[in-house]
Amino acid sequence: MTNHLFDTLRARQPERQRVFIETPEGTVYTYADLDRRSAQYANALVALGLKPGDRVALQVEKSIEAIFAYLGTVRAGGVFLPLNTAYTGPEIEYFLGDAEARIFVCDPARQSPLVPVAAGQGVAHVLTLDAHGRGSLSDAADAASTSFADVARAPDDLAALLYTSGTTGRSKGAMLTHANLVSNALALVDTWRFTPADVLIHALPIFHTHGLFVACNVTLAAGSSMIFLPKFDSEAILTLMDRASVLMGVPTFYTRLLKAPNLSPEAAAGMRLFISGSAPLLADTHREWRARTGHAILERYGMTETGMNTSNPYEGERIAGTVGFPLPGVSVRVVSPETGREISAGEIGMIEVSGPNVFKGYWRMPEKTAAEFHDGWFVTGDLGLIDAKGYVQIVGRGKDLVITGGYNVYPKEIESEIDALPGVVESAVIGLPHADFGEGVTAVVVARPEATLDEKAVIEALEGRLARYKLPKRVIFVDDLPRNTMGKVQKNLLRDQYKALYA
Ligand code: ATP
Ligand code: MG
Repeated sequence: MTNHLFDTLRARQPERQRVFIETPEGTVYTYADLDRRSAQYANALVALGLKPGDRVALQVEKSIEAIFAYLGTVRAGGVFLPLNTAYTGPEIEYFLGDAEARIFVCDPARQSPLVPVAAGQGVAHVLTLDAHGRGSLSDAADAASTSFADVARAPDDLAALLYTSGTTGRSKGAMLTHANLVSNALALVDTWRFTPADVLIHALPIFHTHGLFVACNVTLAAGSSMIFLPKFDSEAILTLMDRASVLMGVPTFYTRLLKAPNLSPEAAAGMRLFISGSAPLLADTHREWRARTGHAILERYGMTETGMNTSNPYEGERIAGTVGFPLPGVSVRVVSPETGREISAGEIGMIEVSGPNVFKGYWRMPEKTAAEFHDGWFVTGDLGLIDAKGYVQIVGRGKDLVITGGYNVYPKEIESEIDALPGVVESAVIGLPHADFGEGVTAVVVARPEATLDEKAVIEALEGRLARYKLPKRVIFVDDLPRNTMGKVQKNLLRDQYKALYA
């Protein structure tokens, strides 16, 4: 038996001397280096007592060494568990306990408060890794052998335990198998036409499916290269476009890059592909990007539990406001929340997914897992439709649906109307408790600084465009919408902040 994920990826890397990963400062690792360095991590982890199936949790700054730790964990048969760097001590305590991690790796600066937290949750070893990839874990790797006999792992064995972003509630641990990660990486290489000649600008965090699995596994499965930036940096990205070919970003990457005066068709001339996901890309951003660079951003849709589900086409029309077609091997359907039956093109319902990308279930939550599967299909929690041309459109999350006076209001429809008004940057429509209507439709709007927009003007502009029950009862102006690190608007925070608006 082989190590399904690692062996599949390695077999697809044609050239051992090809650069796998580098930093703008000049640190460079080839695929041959990757073999040796990830073997050292695998040896170090096994020496610490790691057994197949054990969880290795990391809360570390982004570094190349952290990627080697990921690959070393997979080779050693462990289950990789990356944690958001923003999590506080009590949150870390919850995750370590919930996952029953055997090994925990943290930033040296947080070691002293976190050691007792980890010990209290039964973690056997706490090691460190800093933003430069130095710490007791990399020291242990330095001292270890550069060859390692990969631990056999079947396609159905777990490779990672990845917690969801917690946008709609407490994060859930998604159990991802070797086969889940392999199938998704291969589908994306194919869909996005990755080759060994590609150079990806990597500016995403690596504790999330986007920066970890989409970006790194696609690179590894194509034998391409990555340029690793510690975080998003407009200037650095613009400079790197000269020698790169692909950028993967969340929508805020694109809105921030659009603010750079030197973004131009020339600056983007060497680039092959701009990909966006993790949150909805505004149609305006898509249009402006095309006008400024000549490139149509390719938007795709995925989630922690499934990896990527759909993508706009590489060849063919990339339609703003849609997330494209199901990936090869993945099936998407839309069902009526009332009847549970599949509905016809153009009708809004719950998006369900099936395919080799769909996770094994929520860690230690058999009831939650059972509740989120429907006849073998995973219920995404996202509402959307499949249009007449087969493009999937997401209209929002089921949990963000507003029910007012018995009518369903899809926030995206109202947001699109508001966003199209002159002077509006963006908006979030939420439902707030309302004595008469159950929920009152409420718009939270970010206006351009020079705009002279007020509540009355927004509501009047929407009258005649939207049915009365869809009109916001109140419009609140804010400087920014609250977003998490993946650029997702945190509507739960807005609902909480304004919960007494109609009281
Ligand atoms: P939680 O499940 O803990 O509430 P989360 O759903 O935000 O958090 P993720 O798995 O990181 O956690 O995000 C997946 C969600 O992101 C999808 O269900 C969808 O709502 C949203 N999403 C991803 N890509 C897109 C996209 N291109 N357009 C719109 N929404 C997207
Ligand atoms: Mg989710």
